[in-house]
Amino acid sequence: MNETPRFDAYRAAIPDALMPPRDDPFDAAVPPIYQTSLFLFDSYKELEDVFAGRSKKPIYSRGDNPTVRILERKIAEMEGAEAARAFSSGMGAIAAAVLAFVGPGDRIVTVRHVYSDAFRFFEKVLKRFGVAVDYVDGADTEAMIAALPGAKLAYLENPTSMVFEVQDLSAIAEAARRHGVVTMVDNSWATPLFQSPLAVGIDIVIHAASKYLGGQSDTVAGLVAGSKAHIDRINSEIYPYTGAKLAPFEAWLVLRNLETLPFRMRHHHGAALEVASSLKAHGDVTNVMHPALADHPGKRTFRGFGGLFSFEVSDEIDVADFVDALRLIRIGVSWGGPESLVVPAKAALSISPETNVFARFGVSARTIRLNVGLHAASDVIADLKQALTAAKR
Ligand SMILES: *Cc1c(COP(=O)(O)O)cnc(C)c1O
Repeated sequence: MNETPRFDAYRAAIPDALMPPRDDPFDAAVPPIYQTSLFLFDSYKELEDVFAGRSKKPIYSRGDNPTVRILERKIAEMEGAEAARAFSSGMGAIAAAVLAFVGPGDRIVTVRHVYSDAFRFFEKVLKRFGVAVDYVDGADTEAMIAALPGAKLAYLENPTSMVFEVQDLSAIAEAARRHGVVTMVDNSWATPLFQSPLAVGIDIVIHAASKYLGGQSDTVAGLVAGSKAHIDRINSEIYPYTGAKLAPFEAWLVLRNLETLPFRMRHHHGAALEVASSLKAHGDVTNVMHPALADHPGKRTFRGFGGLFSFEVSDEIDVADFVDALRLIRIGVSWGGPESLVVPAKAALSISPETNVFARFGVSARTIRLNVGLHAASDVIADLKQALTAAKR
């Protein structure tokens, strides 16, 4: 299970994407923060040229902002996309991207363990507007493909972020294209380094930049990347009117932390593999859900692996005692930053059942999600082991 991430391929595929932009008037090494809501015009003609689409000069920061544009350009380059759009959160990105492509009477096919708030968006918002949603086992490619005819959108998340269900993106993309179904993939876990959905035929890539792209647990941001036609549709149908724009300072934080992405991902990849192997061999761990493991269901196509995965503890372990016995590893949602974190599914199962994706699709109360942050694998392993011992009944 020791696959080495291809950092050289990454460098070759996206030359300059991590370098400072080359068009700064002062050759600043770090992009400026254009902290302005509006932009001024020297003449009637200059204003009319922008309104008529003859000029790309920004008008107002709810639409376009130069700092945000730098981030959008970099993400487009990293994903091999023609265009990208930044949002004030991953959910802002998901909601806008989905709403641009579905309407009353349409059907969405998605994976059953989809991100919990995407699930709530489907159940609480889209269903109210007459959109049907089918939840399918993402690792079952035949079932995914069988659900596609007649659907408008296939919304994927590879892997899902509680039980790490993986999907065969190229097979699903190929079938979706035949049936005229638009495809979207949440690529937050793999990042553009470890998975390139557009290269295998997926239409649109989504990122919760709050996770690895931001990388520092200091900002909430989202991104959508795809063809110019698809991003234009999101821009013209939804983006300006729902107002989920990314602020220039938040874009700057993501830009700053993007520069260390390859180094952080190399650590998350290797450290999480070590921790997963150690847990797999532990007598009080009954299951490890990490996409690198040979017995993990579904077809894996990643070039490397994120540092977030789950495991199940045996009946001998009291989940609450285990979580409380951890010292280095903290309790907290989200992931992708320097901290090592756990989320016990048991606590999440107490969320009201009608919008609880974990209860609906059967996540075990013995599941612990672990984010291996920037700690040494040996320190994370030692903490897990001492807490398992302390929590043994
Ligand atoms: C966090 C997360 C999101 C949502 O991103 P926000 O920035 O929190 O809105 C979407 N997908 C996945 C897989 C996530 O982990």
